[in-house]
Amino acid sequence: MKELVQEKWKKRPLIISGPCSAETEEQVIETAVRLHKTGKVDVMRAGIWKPRTRPGSFEGIGTKGLPWLQQAKKVTGIPVAVEVATAKQVEDALHFDVDVLWIGARTTVNPFSVQEVADALRGVDVPVLIKNPINPDLELWLGAVERVAKAGIKQIGLIHRGFSSYGNTEYRNAPMWHLAIEMKRRNPELMMINDPSHICGRRDILLDVAQKAIDLDFDGLIIESHIDPDNAWSDAKQQITPERLAEMLDSIVWRKEDTVSEEFHANLEKLRQQINHLDDELMQILGQRMKVAEKIGQYKKDNNITILQTNRWNAILERAAAKGEKLGLSKEFITKYFDAVHMESINHQNKIMNA
Ligand code: PEP
Ligand code: MN
Repeated sequence: MKELVQEKWKKRPLIISGPCSAETEEQVIETAVRLHKTGKVDVMRAGIWKPRTRPGSFEGIGTKGLPWLQQAKKVTGIPVAVEVATAKQVEDALHFDVDVLWIGARTTVNPFSVQEVADALRGVDVPVLIKNPINPDLELWLGAVERVAKAGIKQIGLIHRGFSSYGNTEYRNAPMWHLAIEMKRRNPELMMINDPSHICGRRDILLDVAQKAIDLDFDGLIIESHIDPDNAWSDAKQQITPERLAEMLDSIVWRKEDTVSEEFHANLEKLRQQINHLDDELMQILGQRMKVAEKIGQYKKDNNITILQTNRWNAILERAAAKGEKLGLSKEFITKYFDAVHMESINHQNKIMNA
């Protein structure tokens, strides 16, 4: 890997920014210069080939934009990143010294395309970021990582850009944070970057999403920026100026995952012990609850009564929701929790009835 990007790759938080699309040479250079001036951007992104949902939108400037990125790098010293979806695009990007490649969400969904990109990467030492697939499917995301890793790529990173969901309102792509967290859990060695721009699809909630990602210990952010956001040729609604980006990064509270303070660790340990203790008690009680359910099962069996009695279940739920509310538990949680308890209870009764 080139020295220029080697240092950056290790930096936390890693900040990537730049336009959704490279449009003109002037736009690319001016963006680079203004991003450089903020002193906060580690890698500059720019889409050269744009996968668009509908034809007729701007589909990217193509290979002729690559020398502009080369020039931007020459002027600012900031390494550059480009999205690739075909072998030819990989070749062209590498030919023009692109430092980081990324695989877009519309490509990650397609194993044929991912394999084509991976084959083109064989024997090349370049960092590759892999965006989550458009649909909420961790296996596809993992599959893309495996294909790229098998091609011999050592520096792989993940980008969480949200998932498309029908009838979604607040976000352009629903974050479904639990999926990103699970992906991180399964691949602790890979860096995970958040893409607030494509999650939000609009400027006003970018900071909230970025802050949440940092609170969840993501390794960095990729945020689209443009010298004249309203007139951007693609994704105009979600882009911000380099100066606004700098302000936004300044207003994020950068929490640490860990601290060396012994007092902090001692106190945290005490609280964690309490949690463990309470969890043990909850488990004991749940075990007892299931024993009672089994007794009921036996009783119903002896009297030839069905397991499920809807009225009784509604009564339990109503009672629990009312009690839970007083204890500060949300109705949503209570419902989910009791559904799970109920299912387990039915399974226990079922075993008894059919024994
Ligand atoms: C992009 O980064 O401009 C892009 C096309 O994103 P995604 O693949 O996440 O839709
Ligand atoms: Mn975009």
